[in-house]
Amino acid sequence: MFYKQFLEIIDILNPEFVENFDYWLATLPTNNQKNITASVVSARLEVSYSQAEIILKYAEKQKILEKYYQVKCPDCDYNLESLSKNEIAEVLINSVYCDYCEEDKHISMDDIYIAYKVIQKPDVSEEKIAEAIEKRLNRGGGTESNFSKADSLSNKKEFLYESFYNPDESAYENFGNLRSKLDLDYGENRTAKGTVLEQLILKIFNQIKYVSGTNDVKTKTNQFDCTLLCRITTSYPSVFNYLEPYFIVECKNEPKKKPNNTYTNKLESILDTNDAKLGIVFGRKDATKTCFSISHDHYLLNKRSEKQQIIITCCDKDLDYLIDKRVNLLCYLEYKIFQITANASSVTYEMFMKS
Ligand SMILES: [Zn+2]
Repeated sequence: MFYKQFLEIIDILNPEFVENFDYWLATLPTNNQKNITASVVSARLEVSYSQAEIILKYAEKQKILEKYYQVKCPDCDYNLESLSKNEIAEVLINSVYCDYCEEDKHISMDDIYIAYKVIQKPDVSEEKIAEAIEKRLNRGGGTESNFSKADSLSNKKEFLYESFYNPDESAYENFGNLRSKLDLDYGENRTAKGTVLEQLILKIFNQIKYVSGTNDVKTKTNQFDCTLLCRITTSYPSVFNYLEPYFIVECKNEPKKKPNNTYTNKLESILDTNDAKLGIVFGRKDATKTCFSISHDHYLLNKRSEKQQIIITCCDKDLDYLIDKRVNLLCYLEYKIFQITANASSVTYEMFMKS
């Protein structure tokens, strides 16, 4: 073995494959030590795509390889940019200039590919590697493109959600601090008590990239606790299509009271008269059962109309998922919306999680 790390998995995966991969990786010429994709490994080493993925992920964990995201021009296939995960959202929103086509290109998930580069040299000397290459010299691979559609992010929704919502440690710390203030004694100052929940909710939702919110929208007839503008849409069904062009959250920091249908009714009448498709009642205790059935009825009523309308209700339990379990907010919203559209209030988030 050139990389001793692979000894650990030799009995778990097919030993011949692991040995071949180890050899292949160690002897790659320098200019081929990047743009390594699962389809390349699968083709060169004649294994299934998923096996190739497993060994690449393992090598990444062992810090032999580093993962990155390669953006290709949708028209000419030119390699435009290599990105880290944090940079993906920006590229999807703004266009990228292709030097070859000489114009700005709109990038979709189809044009972004998962690739790896070698960041750790094997544990053996150059001579040993040269020797090994000598032995196998006639086995060389072709020069066809490394990237196949299977390597792209196309329609990988979870990935899209991770690119747009990925709070860092300090953000989570912030969430925790604000949550700990929800039950402080605010005396008669009900506004202060209400505001702290609004601030927490806004903090959480503002972590979605290209979503920006405020606590200060007043219309002629209403004042909204949180109004969030969303600039993202996708050509396939995704939660963003419910969030755009904006959505509204009503917060009720009442630790002992279940939000009742007054709140859902109010949100319904708001959605009836503006462009928002999604309204959220964020209380502390689970909303009453009637809220759920009203929301489902309202969804059915507008299902065939030009604009869908969904009201969801959230409470402390949902904050536990978002803050303590660090569940992705976009995945979580998708689950909450599903509960309403499927009329399945007892469905749990865990049922959606992949093991
Ligand atoms: Zn191009």
